[in-house]
Amino acid sequence: MIEAKGLSVSYGRHIALEDVSLNVARGDITVVLGANGAGKSTLVAALAGVVPLRAGTIHLDGSDITFAPAHRRVALRLATVPQGRGLFPDMSVADNLALGSFVTDQDDFASRREAVFSLFPRLAERRNQAAETMSGGEQQMLAIGRALMASPAYLLLDEPSLGLSPMLVAELFRAVRAIADRGVGVLLVEQNALQSLKIAERAYLVENGHIVDQGPAAGLRYDPGVIDTYLGGRKLLPPARGGK
Ligand code: ATP
Repeated sequence: MIEAKGLSVSYGRHIALEDVSLNVARGDITVVLGANGAGKSTLVAALAGVVPLRAGTIHLDGSDITFAPAHRRVALRLATVPQGRGLFPDMSVADNLALGSFVTDQDDFASRREAVFSLFPRLAERRNQAAETMSGGEQQMLAIGRALMASPAYLLLDEPSLGLSPMLVAELFRAVRAIADRGVGVLLVEQNALQSLKIAERAYLVENGHIVDQGPAAGLRYDPGVIDTYLGGRKLLPPARGGK
């Protein structure tokens, strides 16, 4: 479990996160929904260790990582896919993937890469192609694949659906679900409430740096505030029997 308690982050005098607490369990998808500027990326950055905390603590499977540097968190199996993907554009797919494993044990490199290729077969087909020549959806797959090369127990995904067509988002989210079903705890930061709530177990709503609501994702899909803010007032059909 990732247990974040009372996280506060400021940029100068601007308070971007204030007293935010949340948990991410292994095997679950935990969605954080929020509008532009709500503080979602700051939350991801705080958990990844790339912005300093003003207050709060972060525990990873019971160990205090509040002051652990970012690279140490990756070695402790907390991997991040930043907004905008952060790929090395002129490097090949294969080289981008290889860089994802640089802080981890290299023994099972080949089997980890095969696992990424089986999840995203298009990466295998394009392994020698430069990252910048791929479509937006493929680049997002590569960014997730690179994070998986660190063999994470927890994966932080910052708005992976941004700029992708609904069909590609559905494909990507199916892969995210498969990653969680293999036991990885996924924190999915999103504005796409419609599709993200369908695949998630839990959800948090962030507004102006504060958590304003939380609960099982299935319940939040019918929350009037979520429907008004994120779903354009659209009512969702009840989930299919046996579905999420
Ligand atoms: P988006 O969906 O647009 O990415 P977000 O929910 O991820 O938004 P953040 O990027 O975390 O929001 O930003 C939260 C607030 O902090 C915003 O008001 C933003 O302008 C501010 N902010 C973010 N990064 C910085 C920075 N480096 N310096 C100053 N202010 C910042």
